[in-house]
Amino acid sequence: AVNSRRPMVAGNWKMNGDLALVTQMQDAFKQNRFENVDVLVCPPFTLLAGFSSNDVGLGAQTISEHPGGAHTGEISAVMLRDVGCGHVIVGHSERRTDQHESNTLVAAKVNAAFSSGLTAILCVGEPLAVREAGKVFDHVAEQLDAVIGHCGSDVLNNLVIAYEPIWAIGTGNTASPEQVQEVHAFIRSHLAKVDAMAAAKIRILYGGSVNATNAAQIFAQTDVDGGLIGGASLKVTDFLAICQAA
Ligand code: PGA
Repeated sequence: AVNSRRPMVAGNWKMNGDLALVTQMQDAFKQNRFENVDVLVCPPFTLLAGFSSNDVGLGAQTISEHPGGAHTGEISAVMLRDVGCGHVIVGHSERRTDQHESNTLVAAKVNAAFSSGLTAILCVGEPLAVREAGKVFDHVAEQLDAVIGHCGSDVLNNLVIAYEPIWAIGTGNTASPEQVQEVHAFIRSHLAKVDAMAAAKIRILYGGSVNATNAAQIFAQTDVDGGLIGGASLKVTDFLAICQAA
């Protein structure tokens, strides 16, 4: 998209990858620098410390809503910063479904990130039934409002939004550039009602079956500022091509 927002491409490895892939990816980003795009890798927690954040930005895939203490199995904002993370994905649809993360819990997690200086990548997006019922905007607005209501409008100054229609994730069924632009424009206008300046600056990524072939056309949409990439972020050549397209 042509505007003053710096594009971002974030690779969400989900529960995939190993130390060998870390080495491969790390070498690729030593050799390929992207001057005009923020590139992030979001591997599983166990692999975060294996990356040097000098070569590529680092993000986690979720975060505890608690600052620390007796929460077995959880990872705090401070711990993420300690291993070099600047970002964390929050509210991915797989976690909303598999871990039953509610809008309220997602808001608390965004707040934990925000109050520690981490940039949350807040995922929003509708299931197919909601789209078919013509309720996409209502659904997305509710997800956004839960976070703004809990964290305050200041959060918009250190937040990235990822629009990921659930029916497009991992299905090969990418939303059309028109469908993407329509929702991204809605998100920006909805946020502008809270803070027009922050809404003009905030980056809105698209996620859902982005690949090396379709990335450029999606990224060219006015309100699309890059992508959150699942499957295609696990293959070095594909991920590099997507970063290039941004
Ligand atoms: P996908 O996943 O690119 O494999 O569709 C995107 C995501 O879930 O972030």
